[in-house]
Amino acid sequence: MLWDYQQPVAIRFGNGRVREIKDVAAEMGLIEGGLLVSEHLFAKNGTAERIVKDSDGAISEIFSDFSPNPDVTEVDKAAALIREKHLKFVVAMGGGSAMDLAKSAASIALTNDSIAEYHGTGKAMPQEHLPIIAVPTTAGTGSEVTCVSVLTNRALGKKAPIVSDGFFPSVAIIDPELTYSVPPHVTASTGMDVLSQAIEGYWSKGHQPICDACAIHAAPLVFKYLPIAVAEPNNAEARQKMCEASVIAGLAFTLPKTTSSHACSFPLTNIHGIPHGEACGLTLDWFARINKDAQHGRVQEFARAIGFEDVDAMADAIHELKVKVGLRTGLKDLNLSAEQIADLVRISRHPNLYNNPVEITDEMLQDMYEHLAATD
Ligand code: NAD
Repeated sequence: MLWDYQQPVAIRFGNGRVREIKDVAAEMGLIEGGLLVSEHLFAKNGTAERIVKDSDGAISEIFSDFSPNPDVTEVDKAAALIREKHLKFVVAMGGGSAMDLAKSAASIALTNDSIAEYHGTGKAMPQEHLPIIAVPTTAGTGSEVTCVSVLTNRALGKKAPIVSDGFFPSVAIIDPELTYSVPPHVTASTGMDVLSQAIEGYWSKGHQPICDACAIHAAPLVFKYLPIAVAEPNNAEARQKMCEASVIAGLAFTLPKTTSSHACSFPLTNIHGIPHGEACGLTLDWFARINKDAQHGRVQEFARAIGFEDVDAMADAIHELKVKVGLRTGLKDLNLSAEQIADLVRISRHPNLYNNPVEITDEMLQDMYEHLAATD
C-alpha cells in the first residue's frame, strides 16, 4: 500500500484562544489589511468588532453578508471587497459556511474571475491565495484543517465541493467557548457531520493509516459527548470534546475524502433544505450496513475498535444517536413523489459516491430513498 500524509495547518486549541488572533497574525508578519469573515451572531453581538479593535489595526474590514451553504455570488462579493480595499489576509470565524466562503474568496480575489467558473466545472483553482486564519464556531465540518470549500450555486441548483491545496488555512484557532451559543439543533446536526466524516474518511477508498487513527479517535467522542452538548449547551467538557472530535475528524477525511453519505447529502440539502450534518447522518447507518463486509473486514474492525460488537451494532447506535439528539431518521413528512425520489437518486451520483468501498448502484439508492420516504 502506498500513501502520503500532509497536514500543513498549525493548530491552536483551547478555551479563550480566540484572543490570540492578533498574535498569530503578527507572527505571520500580517500587520494590516485583514478581513474578518464573521458568523452573523458575532457580527451582531459585538465580538467581531472587539476582535477588529484588539487587532491593533491588523484587521480593518468585516464581511458577514452570507448565508448557510454559501452561494457563489456571496463569495464573489467578499472577493470584490478584498480587491477594492487591497486586503492582504483573511480571518474566517464561523461555521463551515463562513470558512468555506472565506477560503474561496481568499483565492479568487487574486484574479478577476467569478468563483462560479471553478465550481463543479473541474477547472483547477489558482494556487495563489491570501493567507487564512480559520476560527471555527461550530463543532462540525473540520473545514479549519481541510483543503475543501463547499459552495452552492442556487441559480443552477448545484451544491459541490471545490478542492485546492490553496484552501488550507495557515493556522486554525479552535476555541470551544465559541461553540456555547450554537443552538441545540445546529449542535446535533454539525455533530452528526463529525461522525459522518470520521466514518467515511475511514472506509473511503482513499483511506490511509494516519487518517484511520484520527477516525478511530474522533468517532467515539461523538457517541459519548454529542447528546451532552445538545442537552447542556454550556457543558464545558462536552463542547471541548466535540471540538476535539471535529478537528480530528477533519484530519481523518481531508486526504481520503468523504463518500456515499456526503454524496447523498448534497441534493438532500439543496433540494429539501435539510441541514448539512443532518443530511449526512440520514443515510450513514444505511451505508454502514451496505459497507459492513467491505475492505476485507476493515469496517468491522473499525466498529470493534470504537467499542461495538460489529457494524450492525454501530449502525443501530447511529440510529439511536439521531433519535436522542432530535435529528431526522426518515423523510416521510416530505411526502416525496416518485419523481422527487428519482431526482434524489440521479443527483446523488456525485463524485464522492465513487469513493465508497462498495459500488453503489442506482437500484441501491432507489431502495434507500424509498425506505427513507416511508419512514418517520
Ligand atoms: P453553518 O456554518 O452553515 O452554520 C449553521 C448555522 O449555525 C448558521 O445559521 C450559523 O449562522 C449558525 N452558527 C454558526 N456558529 C454559531 C455559533 N457559534 N453560535 C450560534 N450560531 C452559530 O454550519 P456548519 O455545519 O458548520 O457548516 C456547513 C457548511 O460547511 C455546509 O455548506 C457544508 O457542506 C460545508 N462543509 C465543509 C467542509 C469542508 O471541509 N470545507 C466539510 C463539511 C461540510
